[in-house]
Formats: sequence, structure tokens, C-alpha cells
Amino acid sequence: MTKNKAIYYCGYAAIVGRPNVGKSTLLNHILGQKLSITSRKPQTTRHNLLGIKTEESTQIIFVDTPGIHFDHKKALNRYMNQAAESALKDVDIIVFVVDRDIWNDTDQRVADEVFRANIPVIIAINKLDRLSSKTDLLPHIKILAEKYPDTQIIPVSALRGQQLNELESAIKKFIPEAEHYFPDEQVTDKSERFLVAELIREKITRQLGAELPYEATIEIENFKHGSKICHINALILVEREGQKIIIIGDKGDRLKKIGQEARLDMEKLLETKVMLTLWVKVRRGWSDDERALRSLGYES
Ligand code: GDP
Ligand code: MG
Repeated sequence: MTKNKAIYYCGYAAIVGRPNVGKSTLLNHILGQKLSITSRKPQTTRHNLLGIKTEESTQIIFVDTPGIHFDHKKALNRYMNQAAESALKDVDIIVFVVDRDIWNDTDQRVADEVFRANIPVIIAINKLDRLSSKTDLLPHIKILAEKYPDTQIIPVSALRGQQLNELESAIKKFIPEAEHYFPDEQVTDKSERFLVAELIREKITRQLGAELPYEATIEIENFKHGSKICHINALILVEREGQKIIIIGDKGDRLKKIGQEARLDMEKLLETKVMLTLWVKVRRGWSDDERALRSLGYES
């Protein structure tokens, strides 16, 4: 008597593209859960983050990348580039995300990296919802199809969830037969501590985008799950006294708002009540100091 052995599929899909095209939004929508923080400001994502989606026999491990930066002066930028480049190695498929109407030098430089990797690529043209008519896409598609004739092109809206099933089906075709690397219920490789810190950073970036050129980082000092409530103490580290004053705001209003919004997202993520305490502290030079970066978890 022969027994049917189940067949499993498992593989990696890297999501790449220049900053701000919607990579993190895409990942969150595909996973149906907010793991990667997003904002209108470029450079919101700093680390590679795995988002794991398991459906029946297939497990896709998505890698959200910080996007490639062409200003190498700061240690933080160098770190983010390494993260993006290492994400391109050893993946089964690259989802190259571009904007619906803009193709600039940065897209071209990212494209050069992407197509040099010798890994299958799918181009996702994002922000479809911003177009009044889908025919507006045709010139863009034509140019891309001429440049990259063997590459499938799929227009999507990461924000509205349009055409994401099509994208996922296209990705699945490249996922090889393999045992699942992660337990089926696991959704990310990052700890709750990490995700919670990222939520605070997102609120700061969203509220203070222009005033604070990505120079805040978060240290979780205390994270205690109680039976009914989770206690979290976090430090917001900034570079300069002036930035501290901006984050705290008039009579502490800004900080209060950041805390409230972050807490609501944390409660969704952790599925429990959260008591959040925030402090702002000046620690000079952290974004340009390799050692300080390592101490804050920016391992390469
Ligand atoms: P990333 O830097 O590539 O990770 O980009 P994010 O995911 O952080 O998104 C950058 C900005 O674009 C955010 O303000 C998103 O809300 C917005 N965005 C992302 N996808 C879409 C989309 O499909 N439609 C629209 N209208 N906005 C989007
Ligand atoms: Mg991102």
C-alpha cells in the first residue's frame, strides 16, 4: 500500500524598490497585519524584516528592505544599504516595487542592482489607486516592458489591496518545494520588543517628518507582560537638545499624542491593554557611530 506524502513549498521573496514606493505597506497588506512601519517620509524602514505567510502547504517568507540609499556618508545609511543588498542574496524571487508614474534615477540604480542579481523578478507598479484611469499606466508599462522584456509586470495598490491576489499567485510560482522553515503560526522573525519600538518610531516620523530628519531611535527599557496589562517603558533617543524640545512639544502635548497613538497600535499587536511610559533623552552622535548603532541593535 502506498501512502501519499504531503508536498510542502517554502521560499523567500525580497521586496525591493527605492524609498517611499510602498514596500512596507505592501508587506503589511499581504500579511493582513501591521508589522512594518510606514510613513510618507522616506527611510522609515531601517532593518530587514521578515514577514511570514503560511497558507496550507505554502510558506512565503517576505523580506522587507530599507531601500537603497546613495548617500553613504552616515554609518546608518551604510547599515541600511548592507541590509538591502544582503536581502537580494539567496531569495527565490524579487518583487521590485515602482511607482505608478515616476521612474527616476534612483529607480534605475535600484533596477540595476535588482537585475544584476540573476534571480527572477516581478515588477509591481504600485499606487494604482492614484490614477484616474488605468490607461494612464500604459506608457509606463510600455517603457518597462521594453527595458525588461522577460519580466512580468503587475499593477497593484498596496494601500487598497488591489490586485494583491494576482501578485501573490505570481510569487507562488517561484516558491520551490521545501519543508517550512518557520512554524506555521509565526508571522515575523522580530521580537515583540522590536515591533513595539518600531511603532513608537513610526508615530514620531509621521508627526515630525520634516522637522526631524530620521534622527530618533527607541530603546525599550522595560517590557513586562502582566495578566491583564503589559507595562512598557521606552526611551526616545535624539541627537540634539532642540530635537528633544520638538518631540516633547508644548506642555508635553506632542509626546502625549505620540504615546497615545503608539499605545493603540501596541494593544492591537499584543492583543492586551498596554501601559506605556515614554522618556526623551539626548544621546549625541548615535546615527553616525558604529558602536552606538550596534548597541542599539543595528547588527550587520
Ligand atoms: P516604503 O518606503 O517603500 O516602505 O514605503 P511605505 O510603505 O512606507 O509607503 C510610503 C507612503 O506611500 C506611505 O505614506 C503610504 O501610505 C503610501 N502608499 C503606499 N502604498 C500606496 C498605495 O498603493 N496607494 C497610495 N495612494 N499610497 C500608498
Ligand atoms: Mg519601508
